[in-house]
Amino acid sequence: MTRYADLADSVGNTPLVGLPSLSPGGDVRLWAKLEDRNPTGSIKDRAALQMIRAAEAEGTLRPACTILEPTSGNTGISLAMAAKLAGYHLICVMPENTSPERRQLLRMWGAEIVSSPAAGGSNQAVAIAKQLAAEHPDWVMLYQYGNPANAEAHYLGTGPEILADLPEVTHVVAGLGTTGTLMGIGRFFAENKPSVKIVAAEPRYGELVYGLRNIDEGFVPELYDAAYVTTRFSVGARDAIRRVRELLEREGIFAGLSTGAIVHAALGMAARAVKAGEAADIVVIVPDAGWKYLSTGAYNEDIDATEDFLDTQVWA
Ligand code: PMP
Repeated sequence: MTRYADLADSVGNTPLVGLPSLSPGGDVRLWAKLEDRNPTGSIKDRAALQMIRAAEAEGTLRPACTILEPTSGNTGISLAMAAKLAGYHLICVMPENTSPERRQLLRMWGAEIVSSPAAGGSNQAVAIAKQLAAEHPDWVMLYQYGNPANAEAHYLGTGPEILADLPEVTHVVAGLGTTGTLMGIGRFFAENKPSVKIVAAEPRYGELVYGLRNIDEGFVPELYDAAYVTTRFSVGARDAIRRVRELLEREGIFAGLSTGAIVHAALGMAARAVKAGEAADIVVIVPDAGWKYLSTGAYNEDIDATEDFLDTQVWA
């Protein structure tokens, strides 16, 4: 079925494609779930829509309301799309060094931006949003880090889609940001195929990979429940860049930077399966495409992924 009532209705049901060139061979295969095929180009359309629908059902979100959200970009763009369709006003609080593409996209979809200091990263954006919400009780903060509807989107959508497309799935590897993706998929597989390993890709402590966070760095999203994660994989920013280039080179997939970290973790799990002589069908969640990161230079083949390069780039 490829006909939908409106754009919001077309969220989800993304393709799962094989990665024959990156797969180690034998009985170990990698698959990519292409979340950039969602209407605004990221996995966050799922969470945004589910959070808005849940708030409408609870009665907290009423016609013409103002929604306030701390977001580093993708959730903001998804909320802006959903808010536009439903007639809400959206204010996003985000670090001032967020990429120009993201700011432009948000403004195009009609959102207002409040900048938070770059040095404080997304943690300070969250703190400022909480303060603004306290000052404006009529504004609705959906708060993706603690909103069960964020994870529910993946419990109801992403997880079941994976199992339907690949009943033999053994691992699902996703990035850790709000943890909504991991928690929703994790709970779905715990209930429906508990043998599936749920793997979290995090940036190595002190390093930055756009969209991801290391939960040892001080802020643990309220949604997070360690019981749903089998393995946590810390990935260096340099490895993430290397893998995102490799994904394009070998499979033709132009993904965002968090995908590089997720692919690196997936290849780590694939190597373990090969070593143990086990069969594995490993699903890599591709949260978004590379367009919004072009200005970082990460795809520029003239630029080597050296520490110097990483040090001079804006990654938060
Ligand atoms: N990758 C990208 C590009 C993202 O924007 C996000 C969300 N911040 C994630 C991964 C992590 O997803 P989640 O918030 O569901 O943990």
